[in-house]
Amino acid sequence: MSEAPKETQKIDYRERYEQLLTEVSTLENNEQLHQTLLKTLISRVLFAVDKAYPELSEDSRKLRDTLRQSEDGPLALGRLQPSIERLAEQIRAIEAGSLTPPRSETLTAEENAAQIDVRDFLPLLLERIAFTDQLEGRRAKLLKILQDPKDHTLNSILIDRAATLINDMRRSLENEKSELAQFLQQLTDSLSEIDQHTFANLSDIQTQRDAQQALDHAVTEQVSHIGRTVATATDLDELKQEVRERITRIGEYIQSFRQNEEKRLDELEEENELMRERIGKLESSRTHLHEQLLASEQKMLRDPLTGLPNRLALDERLGLEMARMKRESTPLCIAIWDIDHFKSVNDTFGHQAGDKALHVVGRTLHKLVRDVDMVARFGGEEFVMILPKATLQQAFVILERIRETLGGTAFRFKETPLKITLSCGVAELHPHETSEMALVRADDALYRAKSHGRNRTEMAHTQ
Ligand code: GH3
Ligand code: MG
Ligand code: MG
Repeated sequence: MSEAPKETQKIDYRERYEQLLTEVSTLENNEQLHQTLLKTLISRVLFAVDKAYPELSEDSRKLRDTLRQSEDGPLALGRLQPSIERLAEQIRAIEAGSLTPPRSETLTAEENAAQIDVRDFLPLLLERIAFTDQLEGRRAKLLKILQDPKDHTLNSILIDRAATLINDMRRSLENEKSELAQFLQQLTDSLSEIDQHTFANLSDIQTQRDAQQALDHAVTEQVSHIGRTVATATDLDELKQEVRERITRIGEYIQSFRQNEEKRLDELEEENELMRERIGKLESSRTHLHEQLLASEQKMLRDPLTGLPNRLALDERLGLEMARMKRESTPLCIAIWDIDHFKSVNDTFGHQAGDKALHVVGRTLHKLVRDVDMVARFGGEEFVMILPKATLQQAFVILERIRETLGGTAFRFKETPLKITLSCGVAELHPHETSEMALVRADDALYRAKSHGRNRTEMAHTQ
């Protein structure tokens, strides 16, 4: 949406600029007309000189040749000037030699023809040139002299005055042209500056688009006003004044647009700051939640009574150890412990005493295993041990040592000594069996340990 007015806007600028350029080229065309007239004037003068002063015909012929050479191109006034001045000097010398200015009645027929020719031609020439107000007075004065039958001013002086007048006009035209060109340059600079400010850093935010469109509209209006002024203005100063005012107005629009932009950026910055704060808060609550999650994860994996890993944690670890066993081809054993006659502990000392006993047994098992081993509460008064890198025989030795240590430990409840023993069943995992299958085999071994008198360890049969 924002692209279309932007494009139109740029074309508008260019159109106005083109119009101004047309103005300049009109002035240039005027100058060409003046050049042509000047050439005609000079050739007429030379013709008159030829007739009036035959002794100068050689010089005037050379001048006419030079003039002819520059027929199509611009008039090489610089080159012609010295020759013209020399000729004029010679004419003045000839006229001075006769002491009194030649009067019309004393002139030869040829001289008379030349005299009349100049007085006929010059008014025609002066009529065709558009003079500025300042030079208009001089033209009127010269025309009056030229058209006065009683006037006897010498041809050379009349031609001189006409040439000076035309030259002055040409110069003022040149000044005006360069002034206008300079003004156009300033205008171009202003417009391209506006272009830069207006169309730089455009983003796709809707509010910015709206502001942009409002600015486009305001600028278009001002620029088209400039266009109308250019088309209708008759006076260059008036035109320049008008265009300058419009450009100033455009500048003001741009400034207010930029001020709004800055305000909007400040607001955005504030919003950013708020967002940063919010993100900071979210970040810290995220960390808090993460910690809580870790804690609840721990809770999920721990048995609250003994503080040992629970069955879920055991399954997880067992999965890892089985993968390692297969990867590294190392042995892996699993053992199930069960407290002997635990029911009687509960029955004799109460459930609370049973809980206490479970806690102490759990902690003791944990202390007695190797670092690489894991002990978990399997449920009730049963515990499971994972013994990595141990063969069935090696595991048996370790488990027996633990069992003996536990059996020799003097437990107490409220000063009453408590004899606690455990039975154990151990199985070595086969690479192709599941953990459940191995646990069943270990449980079978445990059952055998119970049935063979308790407080002992039995090894599972291989399948
Ligand atoms: P066995 O030598 O054959 O294992 O005999 P037992 O008495 O230990 O076995 P039984 O399965 O008959 O009884 C287990 C008892 O363990 C029953 C139950 O009250 C007790 N028990 C299981 N979990 C808990 C517990 O969390 N706290 C307490 N205090 N006792 C428990
Ligand atoms: Mg049991
Ligand atoms: Mg038991």
